[in-house]
Amino acid sequence: MEIKSKLPNIGTTIFSVMSSLAREHNAINLSQGFPDFSCSLQLLELAQKEMSAGFNQYAPMQGVIQLRERIAEIIQTCYNRVYSPDTEITITAGATQGIYTSIAAFIQKGDEVIIFEPAYDCYIPSIEVHGGVAVPVQLTYPNFHIDWQLVKQKINKNTRMIIINSPHNPSGTVLSSNDLVELEKIVANKNIIVVSDEVYEHMNFMEEPHQSVARFKSLSNQSIIVSSFGKTVHTTGWKIGYVAGPEYLMTEFRKIHQFLVFAVNHPFQLALAEYLADKKTYLEVKNFYSQKRDFFKGLISSSRFTIEPCSGTYFQLLNYKKISDEKDTEFAIRMTKENKLAAVPLSVFYTNKTDNKLLRFCFAKKEETLKRAAEIINRL
Ligand code: PMP
Ligand code: GLN
Repeated sequence: MEIKSKLPNIGTTIFSVMSSLAREHNAINLSQGFPDFSCSLQLLELAQKEMSAGFNQYAPMQGVIQLRERIAEIIQTCYNRVYSPDTEITITAGATQGIYTSIAAFIQKGDEVIIFEPAYDCYIPSIEVHGGVAVPVQLTYPNFHIDWQLVKQKINKNTRMIIINSPHNPSGTVLSSNDLVELEKIVANKNIIVVSDEVYEHMNFMEEPHQSVARFKSLSNQSIIVSSFGKTVHTTGWKIGYVAGPEYLMTEFRKIHQFLVFAVNHPFQLALAEYLADKKTYLEVKNFYSQKRDFFKGLISSSRFTIEPCSGTYFQLLNYKKISDEKDTEFAIRMTKENKLAAVPLSVFYTNKTDNKLLRFCFAKKEETLKRAAEIINRL
């Protein structure tokens, strides 16, 4: 049969590619971003309790009210804005579905979506599958900042959406309040929706707290925030996230959501709602990961890699230009096969495959894993 691919230029995501290569070669896997330690036992017990109590059938389409109320409380605690659990918050099957559904709901054929590169890998395919056109703006190098002048130049009558991501995967940079003020000015009075990917919202290591779009009144009124419990409570495999946005956007979002997934895992939503009642479960994530970052950096401080600044996320960029001039993809593959350590090459996050000799290492790992990885890094 002849089929016409909807994504002719898309292969398999780098995270699957590197994780399978790591498995095949028995390498330490610091490539795909996920913790190698357990989430809290209390959370596991809560999930077990909800399953035993019989919450094993469909959850409400928009998510259980207990969790939507909890999310509203978290957003108010952290960013001082009130979202209605009834009409402005929806539980999704991870942030990936939140992003996909936001694009599906608002992007029509020919609409342009501004993204910043290096860009998390689900943005472009989700845009293109809906007939949209991704318009990449490169973050400045080496600081990975947004040049807002450049953004203004890219905006035209077809621009329908801007996707931002802070703390930023893969660079580990964060947007400042000045950045968000710029963005707010740029989109004011325009038919442009901002999708704000804030999955690492509780992993911002800077003095200035995380700048959610929720902090900015006019900006929040034309934005959808996307977040994920996978990151915050160390359960990437549960695939539970959420979106928050004004009712007029959420109504359209839910029209698609109900036919894409209908509803998300029921007992785990209830467990999360109860677990997150304790504010420490999310407010202490920042210290937990900044200690991991510092521990990892300390172990590799005398290696030949250059350690790039990391202001947020659980990723550390290392530059290998003093070690090799190979392409980053080749270096990453060789390091996995020969040295038994896997990381993600940064060029895969650029449409034009920009290669600054950078690799991304995930430090959401046990100390013993980081020590074993550091021994390899220090030998290279
Ligand atoms: N956005 C970014 C920036 C991410 O790093 C990830 C990966 N975890 C996601 C979205 C997707 O999150 P989830 O696993 O909840 O789908
Ligand atoms: N977000 C994770 C990363 O950046 C991986 C998510 C995935 O594998 N889809 O590594």
